[in-house]
Amino acid sequence: MRGRDVAITTDHLIIGGGCAGLSLARMLPPQPSQGPSSQGQPSESPPSKGQTLVVEAHPRKQDHSWGFFVMDELADAAAMARKSWTKWQIITPDAAFTQHSTNHPYAGLESKAWLTHCRGAALANGVKFTQAIITAISDQGVVDTDHGAIKAGMIYDSRPPSPPDGAMIQHFIGHEVETPRPVFDPDCAVLMDFRCDQSRGIHFIYVLPYSDRRALIESTMFSPKLEDDGFYETAIASYLKDQLKVDNAMVLRREKGAIPMAEVGRAISGGPVPVIPIGARGGAIRPSSGYAFGFIQQQITALTTALSADKLPSTTSPHQPIDLMMDRLFLKVIARRPSLAPRLFAAMAKALNGDEMALFMSGRATMGLRLKVILAMPKWPFIMALVPTRGGRP
Ligand SMILES: Cc1cc2nc3c(=O)[nH]c(=O)nc-3n(C[C@H](O)[C@H](O)[C@H](O)COP(=O)(O)OP(=O)(O)OC[C@H]3O[C@@H](n4cnc5c(N)ncnc54)[C@H](O)[C@@H]3O)c2cc1C
Repeated sequence: MRGRDVAITTDHLIIGGGCAGLSLARMLPPQPSQGPSSQGQPSESPPSKGQTLVVEAHPRKQDHSWGFFVMDELADAAAMARKSWTKWQIITPDAAFTQHSTNHPYAGLESKAWLTHCRGAALANGVKFTQAIITAISDQGVVDTDHGAIKAGMIYDSRPPSPPDGAMIQHFIGHEVETPRPVFDPDCAVLMDFRCDQSRGIHFIYVLPYSDRRALIESTMFSPKLEDDGFYETAIASYLKDQLKVDNAMVLRREKGAIPMAEVGRAISGGPVPVIPIGARGGAIRPSSGYAFGFIQQQITALTTALSADKLPSTTSPHQPIDLMMDRLFLKVIARRPSLAPRLFAAMAKALNGDEMALFMSGRATMGLRLKVILAMPKWPFIMALVPTRGGRP
């Protein structure tokens, strides 16, 4: 890195033009606030205004849908959603649990709509964009790329993190389908339907019905090992055939993903030029569910609020430590006994009303609500999971 010619200099450098990178780009440069703030740790005084550059490795290849429960601070995103549902279900082979919420509906937002909006807002704010692959970052603020070096006053890094070895992964393929006759209830999203092949681990079908003939259907697994594409595709076809009696649906679009269900590093580097991890890299994914979109927005809001007060936050994780602790325990239980998963999700759906479910899944639970979830769970599997294994923590 030393002696490398610097091709570009910028105040704020955002690495990655995905969800977190562009959600941040639309908010930068932050305006300095008046007076001191209690938020964050006063480290170095970060630059609060100036030029922002987003470096993205590739033009976007795949569009997909982000599902989230609508909270007040997600109003912008909710307004752009393709559709939202005030009713949703969790289904096991034995029962269907239906929840309702008009306060916090479940929204389905197309990634293209959100990213285009963020990019437009950022461009209007003077943010610059360039295409390059970041190959190294020094704590002196010099970033190596395949198109030369960039010097920055502040670096925000959203390159996807590597999940820890053996971590549970949420992996899925989704098909947006059109059926020849009406088979979907357009008013009710299906968050989990466990009436599918459970032979390879925790597996459920997720359905976002856009109309009575069109829906996104995803075959989703929670397990440490990805499956061949054929596994998920067969599961989607079987669901259409077995549950909806459709064998000639047209596939309009396909999406695929693998989201680590683990706590990933989110430390802010302490060098002269801070490197701030954001998005999944900054710990935004909720380990027990794989939900990230709403948490990324919380993370970016907290970060820009701190920056506008000339502070650096001590962490970029948007999660409460107690929620992470509960998630660790939950993941340990379902890793040990995957066959329990439908029962656990059903118990939660039975115990909570729609508002409570939305708040819990969005990291907005009160202690009372957390207790309600804990009391709904079968006791022994969690007690056993509390017993520390050698070298591990509960
Ligand atoms: C198909 C799919 C569906 C999902 N659905 C949901 C959902 O319904 N609800 C939900 O809450 N979450 C969902 N998620 C999870 C989460 O919201 C996304 O993973 C989210 O995009 C994470 O945002 P991010 O900015 O951290 O990462 P990304 O959006 O992946 O952005 C990272 C960016 O960094 C770029 N990059 C990588 N390496 C380099 C490099 N060396 N140099 C320059 N740029 C680089 C990449 O090209 C990419 O654009 C889904 C994820 C996927 C993949």
